[in-house]
Amino acid sequence: MTGTGTTGSRHVTHWIGGKPHAGEAARRGDVYEPASGRVAGTVDFAGQAEIDAAVAAAKAAFPGWRDTSLSQRARVLFRFRELVDEHRDELARLISSEHGKVVSDAAGEVARGLEVVEFACGIPHLLKGGFSENVSTRVDAYSILQPVGVAAGITPFNFPAMVPMWMFPVAIACGNTFVLKPSEKDPSASVRLAELWAEAGLPDGVFNVLHGDKAAVDGLLHHPDVKAVSFVGSTPIARRIYETAAANGKRVQALGGAKNHMLVLPDADLDLAADAAVSAGFGSAGERCMAISVVVAVDPVGDELMARIRERVAGLTVGPGDDPEAEMGPLVTREHRDKVASYLDGGVAQGATLAVDGRDPDVLGGAGDGFWLGPTVLDHVTPEMDAYKDEIFGPVLSVVRAGSYEEGMELISANPYGNGTAIFTNDGGAARRFQNEVEVGMVGVNVPIPVPMAYYSFGGWKDSLFGDSHAHGMEGVHFYTRTKAVTARWLDPSHGGVNLGFPTSG
Ligand code: NAD
Repeated sequence: MTGTGTTGSRHVTHWIGGKPHAGEAARRGDVYEPASGRVAGTVDFAGQAEIDAAVAAAKAAFPGWRDTSLSQRARVLFRFRELVDEHRDELARLISSEHGKVVSDAAGEVARGLEVVEFACGIPHLLKGGFSENVSTRVDAYSILQPVGVAAGITPFNFPAMVPMWMFPVAIACGNTFVLKPSEKDPSASVRLAELWAEAGLPDGVFNVLHGDKAAVDGLLHHPDVKAVSFVGSTPIARRIYETAAANGKRVQALGGAKNHMLVLPDADLDLAADAAVSAGFGSAGERCMAISVVVAVDPVGDELMARIRERVAGLTVGPGDDPEAEMGPLVTREHRDKVASYLDGGVAQGATLAVDGRDPDVLGGAGDGFWLGPTVLDHVTPEMDAYKDEIFGPVLSVVRAGSYEEGMELISANPYGNGTAIFTNDGGAARRFQNEVEVGMVGVNVPIPVPMAYYSFGGWKDSLFGDSHAHGMEGVHFYTRTKAVTARWLDPSHGGVNLGFPTSG
C-alpha cells in the first residue's frame, strides 16, 4: 500500500489540511479483503475533534481558494487529471482489493470519474454569468456565480473513486473547499486521491478526507460551517440526510438506491438484450446503482430470452478481482453476501423459480473464506415478492413476464425507485414513447447502463433522489454555486435625484 495517508499494514487515517491526520482515533473499523475474507487493515473513525479539525481546515482554506483565479484553478485541475490518469492502474488495484470488483471494472470507474475532472477543467467557461447593458438608462445588470463555502460529500462503498469524483472536482473548480466522508468499507482510494491533489498543487485544506460512520456524518450535518451536503447511498439514509441537512439550513442533494428495470419488447434483438441483461446484471457483482436487477420480458419472448440469459451466465468466470481471467468478484462483506443470498430461498418460497443458483460457485483459485455468491437468476418473479420490492444490490437478476408494452411500462413507472431503466426494441416509435412516458430519471434505448456523460447530470427520480439537483454537469455547477444578481449605475450628472417610486426600467 503506497501513500503517506496509509501505512504498510494498511492503517487508513484522515487527510486534513494537506496531510495525514491521525487525531484521537478513539474508534476504528476493520477493512476487509473480500476475495479472501481476511481483515486487511483498519480505518480510523472520526469523533468530534476530527470533524471540527476537517471543517476548520476547509473553512480556513476557503477565502484564498475562492479568490484564486479561474485559470489557476483550471491548471490545478489539469495537473490532477494527469496524475489520476498516470495512477489509474494503481487506483484500480487498490479499489479492487477492498471492494472486490475486478481490476478492469475498477479502472472503468476511475475513467468515468476522470471525465468529471475533465468537465471541471472547463470551469472558466462554466462560471460565465450573464450581462445586460442598459437595463435602465445607463444602468447595467449582471449575474455572477459564487461558491457556497465548505461542502461535504458522503459516499457509498460501491464506487469509492467515481462517486466522490462526481462531487469534488466540480465543487473545487467552483471555488469551494471540500470534506469527503467516504465509505468506511473501502476508504483507501479517497486518501490516494487526496495525495494526488496535493501533488497537483491544490492548496492545503481545500480537499480533506474524514473517515468514519454515522457519527462522522452526523457531525458534518450539524456543523454550522458546512454549507452544502452531497450524499450518495441507500434510500433510507438518503432520506434522513436530506431531512437533517435541510433542517439545519444546508443546501442538500441526496441520491438514493435503485431498482433498475430493462423492458424487452418482442421485436428486440434478443442476443443484444441477453448480452445487456447479463453484463448489466452481474458486472461488479450487481453492486452498481445502475445495475439491471429486473428484466421485464414482454410476451412472447420470455422463454427464449431466459434461454439466452442462462447460456451466457453459464459462461461467466468468478474469481478474485486481481485475477485477469475473472469477470465477477466477491461481494463487499460477509454480512452483505448473506443478506443477498437470503433472497434466493425467500424468492422460491414466494413462488419464483430459481433458474440459476449462484450459491457455491466455482471460484478461480478456490473460494476459501471469501464473500462469494455467483450469478443467480430468479424467473417468474411478481411485484408482491420481496425479491422484486427490495433493492438486493447483488448478483441476483429477477425476470418478470409482462403481457404487453403498457403492462411493462406501468410496472416500471409504479416502482418507488426511479434511477435508471432501459428499453430493448427495434421500434423507434416504441422507444420514443417509452422515454417520454416512463417515470425514471435516466433512460437507455438499447443501452443497459445509461450513465450520463459528465457534461450531462446524473440522478434519478422518486425515492432515488431527495433534493432538486442531480450530480455533475451544469446541475453540479449550480448546486455548488450561489447566483448573485448585480444592478449597477455609474455616476452620471443626469441621475435624476430622489424618486420614491419602485424601480422600473426607463
Ligand atoms: P449506505 O447508505 O449504507 O452508506 C452510504 C454512506 O452513508 C456511507 O458513507 C456510510 O458510512 C454512511 N452511512 C451509513 N449509515 C448511516 C447512517 N445511519 N447515518 C449516517 N450516515 C450513514 O450505502 P452503501 O451500502 O455504502 O452503498 C450502496 C447503496 O448506495 C445502494 O443503495 C446503492 O443503490 C446506492 N447508490 C446510489 C447511487 C446513485 O447514484 N443513486 C450511486 C451509488 C450507490
